Amino acid sequence: MDTAIPNWLKKRAELTPDRTGLIFGEDTYSFSEMFEHSVLAAGRLETIGAKEGVRVAVLLSNTPDSVFILHALQMLGSEIVILNTRLAAGEIDWQIRDCEARLLVVEQRFAETAAAARAMGGGSITLVVSEKLNEMPSDAAPHLQEEYKLGQVSTIMYTSGTTGNPKGVLQTYGNHWWSACGSALNLGIHDNDKWLCAVPIFHISGYSILMRSLIYGIGVDLHAHFDATNAVNSIKQKGITIMSAVAAMLSQIMDELGENSFPASFRCMLLGGGPAPLPLLEHCRSKQIPVYQTYGMTETSSQFATLAPEYSILKLGSAGKALFPNQIRVIREDGLAAGAKMEGEILVKGPNVTPGYYNRPDETEAKMEEGWLHTGDIGYLDSDGFLFVLDRRSDLIISGGENIYPAEIESVLFSHPSIADAGVAGIDDSKWGRVPAAFIVKKEGALLSEEDVIAYCKNRLAKYKVPKLVFFMETLPRNAAKKLVRRELRESSKGGEGPL
Ligand code: ATP
Ligand code: MG
Repeated sequence: MDTAIPNWLKKRAELTPDRTGLIFGEDTYSFSEMFEHSVLAAGRLETIGAKEGVRVAVLLSNTPDSVFILHALQMLGSEIVILNTRLAAGEIDWQIRDCEARLLVVEQRFAETAAAARAMGGGSITLVVSEKLNEMPSDAAPHLQEEYKLGQVSTIMYTSGTTGNPKGVLQTYGNHWWSACGSALNLGIHDNDKWLCAVPIFHISGYSILMRSLIYGIGVDLHAHFDATNAVNSIKQKGITIMSAVAAMLSQIMDELGENSFPASFRCMLLGGGPAPLPLLEHCRSKQIPVYQTYGMTETSSQFATLAPEYSILKLGSAGKALFPNQIRVIREDGLAAGAKMEGEILVKGPNVTPGYYNRPDETEAKMEEGWLHTGDIGYLDSDGFLFVLDRRSDLIISGGENIYPAEIESVLFSHPSIADAGVAGIDDSKWGRVPAAFIVKKEGALLSEEDVIAYCKNRLAKYKVPKLVFFMETLPRNAAKKLVRRELRESSKGGEGPL
């Protein structure tokens, strides 16, 4: 039997109605106010056809209205396809057709792009501008789900597409529930907890914060977008205790902080999304900023493994152990378990792992084996069972038979005082097959030559890992999740911006 638990927002509004659930700039909303707003939105969305079994795609940025729409759709039981707001019309068209959505709810600012996407797809989807919803009559009493079945699909999120065509990842109510529980069993829930969300709510990193807020009864300080000054001000002035960040955000925060540190009430910087450069972790440690490195992905509905605080120094650089009740294995190419410190593909299993990709039985089958998901990431477990994530298998550079992980070289580049941003990708080489090339954004006013970069790396890396080419760039290609898109780096090495 599929376990069912009560409607999360309704339950939360019954349990702690007056507690603050959402903060946006100067505006605050208690859980009962959030429930009221979301019920209103649900009534209007139901009038235009949202209900259980109807797939609704959304293009929503980080605003309170977006949060109410997402909660409304969840309470109605619609499968919500949460699209990346940075997509171009052609990509939206592809994704809404791929997931067979019937409704597309978008903010005014995305309406033009959405209309262009709709025109490409034959116009069968109903397009609704979210601001217009607020002008509709609000007397309808919506049919809200009293209970959520844990096995039922709640959201569909397309992977970032860092490595290729995005795939629609199915996330059930149970996936979100267990993801929130696993995180709480590690971090605990404190009375005064407030989670800063400056990551997009269309991405699992942001959406999972909204789910935790309901399940734990804690406030979310929602930022429209990430800005280091605003983030630091929030942490200092609003009593933020936890923040989710990726490395590029954290390094800007550290620059912004300068000589200062955070208040003692700040207890966790949850760092995920990609490899964390060691110099950044060391810098945070020297300032007593509690960084919890985590490993997770869209397919695991966010956090899957996290380094427990008592190991943050001893196991610096590790993403910790699989959260309760998850499991991790590392396998060799022949499918056998890799021994301690032996590199291989990371496999994950647990109740927050997706049941699969929408409408892709072949890819689902290829990636799933008896409940274990093949992540496509390479890493190893040390002799104490701590996970070290090295890189994506597809980004691995094989050079003259040696394995090179771009993340390791990037970590060295980040430690250079004149380098603001760095990426490494493999480029073709007639002698070695592939060689690493470095793509560098200099700090403002810094003098840095290709020879300087190479000399710096030579002192810190084995010879075969030293970049053979250095490209200086204005910015690096990062996607909406601020992740480096290494395949675009490779492309730019062929284009105009040649080695200096
Ligand atoms: P796509 O699957 O379409 O290429 P994506 O994998 O970037 O996109 P996400 O699900 O947002 O989409 O990202 C998850 C990936 O991020 C992981 O599979 C892993 O490659 C990387 N990642 C997450 N946490 C870490 C970490 N601690 N260290 C290294 N890499 C990480
Ligand atoms: Mg992926």
